Amino acid sequence: MDFKTQLIHGGINQDQATGAVSVPIYQTSTFAQKELGGHPSFEYSRTGNPTRLAVENLIADLENGTAGFAFASGSAAIHTAFSLFSAGDHIIVGNDVYGGTFRLINTILTRLGLEFTAVDTRNLTAVAKSIKANTKAIYLETPTNPLMHISDIAALSQLAKHNQLLMIVDNTFASPYFQQPLNLGADLVLHSASKYLGGHSDLIAGLIVVKDAKLAEQIGYLQNAIGGILGPQDSWLLQRGIKTLAVRMEAHQQNALKIFEFLQKDSRITKIYYPGDPQAADYQLVKKQMTGFGGMLSFEIDRKLSVKKFIEKLRLITLAESLGSVESLIEVPAIMTHGSIPEQLRLAHGISNELIRLSVGIEAVEDLLADLKQALDQAKN
Ligand SMILES: *Cc1c(COP(=O)(O)O)cnc(C)c1O
Repeated sequence: MDFKTQLIHGGINQDQATGAVSVPIYQTSTFAQKELGGHPSFEYSRTGNPTRLAVENLIADLENGTAGFAFASGSAAIHTAFSLFSAGDHIIVGNDVYGGTFRLINTILTRLGLEFTAVDTRNLTAVAKSIKANTKAIYLETPTNPLMHISDIAALSQLAKHNQLLMIVDNTFASPYFQQPLNLGADLVLHSASKYLGGHSDLIAGLIVVKDAKLAEQIGYLQNAIGGILGPQDSWLLQRGIKTLAVRMEAHQQNALKIFEFLQKDSRITKIYYPGDPQAADYQLVKKQMTGFGGMLSFEIDRKLSVKKFIEKLRLITLAESLGSVESLIEVPAIMTHGSIPEQLRLAHGISNELIRLSVGIEAVEDLLADLKQALDQAKN
């Protein structure tokens, strides 16, 4: 089945009980049991709920896994994935991961005895050199946020397999429409479904997909035991959002490409980070492992201009955290999404105080271009 058809017909696309074409919201905590000591499909909604199962089966299909798991947030999904490990285990983590992941690692998981080494996962040799006797996993994002660094999922998965490590990929930025890490050899893929999968800035949710049966059993156990599950209403909203992923991602990409071309021609733009930039060092790798460039780009404006004025003069493009939604959102990572990273570390990674991240929406691109232009014109100090 083609991916676009899977989006509509994957998971449970019809209610078994009534034939309802839209999966019903099973707003219930518990399920009546027919016999004592039986094994019903559903017992208690933390353990399993039919509406949640529908979205879990859908994402499993889309990532070409065998089992999907839905959580109350991307962060809850990430915490559950890290709960596979025990005190004394070592994990290699990309050095440009989401700020909240960085915070979870540094203020909570290290306190519980997990060890981490942050590595530029674009550098295979550096990753290989960081493997120790107690290393259990490689964890990364690609493209990264906000610098759009690209890591070679297939090569790193091979390295992981060779050393009996789990390969974990946060696939939030690309979405399964443009990148399918399990097909490239990863063991576990996770999402902040609050972004492209939900797609409408109306939902916080997280997802995990795995292929291996034993790993599926472990994640299922942790999901139930830790309990950070997605409720039935939000599960319904998420599967509804996912149905239009293909048309949205195509529109995000078309607009982003046009905005990239506009920014490239404007002399006031001094730097652009965009996976679809043919001049970028990562471009061949992007072409190899992704089927599109996505809708995210970051850029810097001439330091003679004011970032604050530029942002505040925008009329259509909204100043807000988050990304991957139908409306265009803009932010300054140093002050907003990446504010919790110590400044020295942040600057060393290339996230300058002037860096601007744009999540390109699906509005008419002429309106977005006009908005960017008028704000740039008024951004003089
Ligand atoms: C937003 C985000 C997260 C965290 O997800 P929440 O749903 O906000 O908890 C994790 N990884 C990436 C790449 C993100 O963009």
